[in-house]
Amino acid sequence: MLDSIRREVVEFFGNPSSSHFAGNSSRDSLEHAREKIANALGVSAFSLIFTSGGTEANNMAIFGSELPLICSSIEHSSVFNCEPYEIIPVDENGQLDISYLEKFLSGMSSPKILSVMLANNETGSVLDPNNELAKLKEKYNFLLHVDGVQGFGKILNYKIPEHVDLFSISAHKVHGLKGAGALYVKDGLELANPFSKGGSHEFGMRPGTENQMGILSLAYMTDKIYSDVYHQKRIADIEQKRGLLEFLLKGKAIPNCTKHRILNTSSLYFPDVSDVILFIELLSDEGLCVSGGSACSSGIKRPSRVLSSIFGKDDPRTKGSVRFSLSVDTTEQDIYKAVDIVNKVLNTYKEIENDKR
Ligand code: PLP
Repeated sequence: MLDSIRREVVEFFGNPSSSHFAGNSSRDSLEHAREKIANALGVSAFSLIFTSGGTEANNMAIFGSELPLICSSIEHSSVFNCEPYEIIPVDENGQLDISYLEKFLSGMSSPKILSVMLANNETGSVLDPNNELAKLKEKYNFLLHVDGVQGFGKILNYKIPEHVDLFSISAHKVHGLKGAGALYVKDGLELANPFSKGGSHEFGMRPGTENQMGILSLAYMTDKIYSDVYHQKRIADIEQKRGLLEFLLKGKAIPNCTKHRILNTSSLYFPDVSDVILFIELLSDEGLCVSGGSACSSGIKRPSRVLSSIFGKDDPRTKGSVRFSLSVDTTEQDIYKAVDIVNKVLNTYKEIENDKR
């Protein structure tokens, strides 16, 4: 990918906003990228605004709507920290509590924006697997924003459905470069631009020269995900490797939220682990990178907000779960190696805990 986009960036070196020929060819390359991504998602090119990534796209959708925010309790912090007016709970599988949501919507006196992620980043759970939101959209007056950052590229052939008004994606979640993403805005929907002031780039919504290399990487990977049959097979094969991981760890770890989840994520509960930070550090020392259900800030260990909200703050699953993420590059050998490391670290962990007593 890098060689291909580097060649394009070197060839089209002009600023896409300049009106000379170098600028024009750069603009053409950017617009070509926009078309590729839009075609894949089944939307029109002028409905995509390039951003610096998922966080900016989410903020743009929510604050740009100028409506009070309703969101699920397991949204990414780039949504959850946008001052929600109402928070909708999820069930033990990380799926949206539709009856709670409907009750709230039915009592709503003015329009709101509802933001629900396509799939959760810690558990992989798909929040609305049965398309209930489409039915609610017909009955109630709200804008629907979907944070597609985790689901995009993992749900094969995904198209933005008609009932979705706003949709965010991020390049680095599909092996593109960090620092680029896009927001889809449904035709006819006008967003305000409360934060970014400047020129008329990106329909006036995101002033500043575009991150051409990042955007081209997003287009390149989108093309691969949607049109390269070999790559699609590699994506589909991730699920079998996750199955192998979970099978080999049977008796040591229990998968969380297994009903309707994206194919690369495994949130695993280790009943013998209660200090996830220590566990992750030990795994990392052995060369295995997993992420926590816990965040450690200023030396304070806090249980994951997502797992707390799914299982309860004091549930052992909240304290003892870690996330394994697999990719197209993960091999069966990687899985066997990872399982060996986990087994070794579980023993070390036990010894450390015993020494503490
Ligand atoms: N939304 C979800 C579900 C994510 O997982 C992430 C990143 O991890 C983001 C939004 C933010 O995306 P970015 O890192 O491109 O700002």
